[in-house]
Amino acid sequence: MHVRWVILLGISLCASNGFGGSRGHHRHHGHEYRPGEIIIKLKPNSETGAVRVTAKSTNSFFSKARKTHGLRVKGSWASLNIHHLEIDPTSTKTVEETVASLSQEPDIEYAEPNYILEKMAVPGPVTQSYTLAQVQSFVGLGLGLTSAPIQALNSWAILNSGATSNVVAVIDTGIDFNHSSFSHAIWTNPGEIPGNGIDDDHNGYIDDVHGWNFVKNTNNPSDDEGHGTHVSGIVLGTTQSIFTTPTTDSNIRIMPLKFLDADGTGATSDAIKAIYYAANNGARVMNNSWGGGPYSMALAEAITYAYNKDIVFVVAAGNSGENNDASPSFPANYDMPNIVSVAATDDSDNKANFSNYGPATVLLSSPGVRILSTYPGGVFAHMSGTSMAAPIVAGVAAMMRYQSPSMNSYQIKNLIAGSVDQKSNLSAFVKTSGRVNAYKAVNSVTTASVDSFKPGYTFSVNPANRALTSDIATRGGGCGLVSDITKDFWDGSGGSPQNPFKRGLILLALILLPLMVAKMLKSPEHATGRRKYERFECDSMVTFRIGEKELVGSVTTISLGGSELNTDALLKDGSVITMSISSPDGKTKVDVQGHVVWSEQQKKYGVAFDGVADSIKSQIAQWTQALNKAS
Ligand code: CA
Repeated sequence: MHVRWVILLGISLCASNGFGGSRGHHRHHGHEYRPGEIIIKLKPNSETGAVRVTAKSTNSFFSKARKTHGLRVKGSWASLNIHHLEIDPTSTKTVEETVASLSQEPDIEYAEPNYILEKMAVPGPVTQSYTLAQVQSFVGLGLGLTSAPIQALNSWAILNSGATSNVVAVIDTGIDFNHSSFSHAIWTNPGEIPGNGIDDDHNGYIDDVHGWNFVKNTNNPSDDEGHGTHVSGIVLGTTQSIFTTPTTDSNIRIMPLKFLDADGTGATSDAIKAIYYAANNGARVMNNSWGGGPYSMALAEAITYAYNKDIVFVVAAGNSGENNDASPSFPANYDMPNIVSVAATDDSDNKANFSNYGPATVLLSSPGVRILSTYPGGVFAHMSGTSMAAPIVAGVAAMMRYQSPSMNSYQIKNLIAGSVDQKSNLSAFVKTSGRVNAYKAVNSVTTASVDSFKPGYTFSVNPANRALTSDIATRGGGCGLVSDITKDFWDGSGGSPQNPFKRGLILLALILLPLMVAKMLKSPEHATGRRKYERFECDSMVTFRIGEKELVGSVTTISLGGSELNTDALLKDGSVITMSISSPDGKTKVDVQGHVVWSEQQKKYGVAFDGVADSIKSQIAQWTQALNKAS
């Protein structure tokens, strides 16, 4: 069979590094967001009537977005047509102006800032920690997380033996992999061969053996904060003792997905990536001890996706002591049928002062005051927050799914709600008027018959939010912008592409994918997955010839793997292109010719080289062997 070889090119403005490196946050309606970043969803293509925008028209959108607005694609969730964009750092347009302008456009379903989210633990440093021996001296081998009567020990006694371990995604700050309590409890990706630099299971992530770090985009979600290790210990500690060094495999597996950084904050875009990762890689329960953003439509769609994948989505209700019915906290307040919103109570089942509540919107309470759990460095510590309450419920949900693998997430949620210990003092605070009871929940799964009913749930754009963005448009001076966009950005006329080199030095990130992409092109069923490919730093020159134009740039990364490409202003589908690529050491050079093609997988244009000589392929492959990995 004829195999095509594709080289995809990434071109970005040289100043863009300063942009991506910015960690400062901006504020919008009291909510912080990432400066220069926007999340959009495109509407289905009205011209073709297609269910979603076709690859070509999507790219045409981005071509114009880049030319007129200086918007670059940072990431895409292709199947949902949601895209993460950044504004060219040389642009004077603000996030609010750009969001306002985009929101007015008929082709955009919604546009929103990339809001900042944060951990839901009560602030303050952990001042005291305990070794395993110290902890054992005062908790023994019991539950030890809390002295509230959640009956966890009784639930362990009725668990089936030999069932398949359940995967709980802990979407948080990461985990201390070296902590002995987790020695038999970390999820391992069965489809990934460690350390071979290849995305073996085609899930979009290279060597993602034990989760992923979405902050640094690496395969190492080690905890640099402490919160995620504590939360993970609570999930595990609800299903077995964490105060002893385990010798046998646990009944659950923790899938650590790090999107909160060393400060305990993270971006909505990274939370979404983590949710999609968990949903696509076998998680049955997700623990979300974070929140704080406003209603995000993109995040709502991600959770809807998780619901359609039948995942129990457990969320901390929040720590501001407020009524979520009146002032919603997200993601706790989304209304997907798989959401379990959890308030915090103390050992005596009184609502914790800090805990948010909501007789209509918070499902139940769970212990969240001075919870003893694992902490980085192989030790144990107390922490408080709805961050600590949620993972107890997540652990209970995991035991229920272990006990009855065929039971759906909706029934699990209802059985959790139906098995609480009701307390009259909680009736004003949570919907069920009760605190979680692990034994009753697990037992209810054992006795209930499996009910396949699951209510349908369809995401729809929040009209209130659309009004909000319109409001920004009138206040933010976006009207002129809108007419600019309408004229240049959306008319679809194309025309001859502007030479982006006029705008200054362009860096080319050259990505080579001789073998894997060739495989991909032969396997359309893999075409929708995102991938990341290991890249290597290099410093080389490349010359393009397109028609009569000759363009020179510098190659900054080279790879046998993935790519990024923002060259649509430069490359037109079908254009014939000649490239002269120097090796990183400058000693050798290859000339290759091909034509511009669309990569459905990458949502980017690339250059396809039909029948390129094997000698050239192997030469470029050799170039990467002595290079440093690019971050
Ligand atoms: Ca992978």
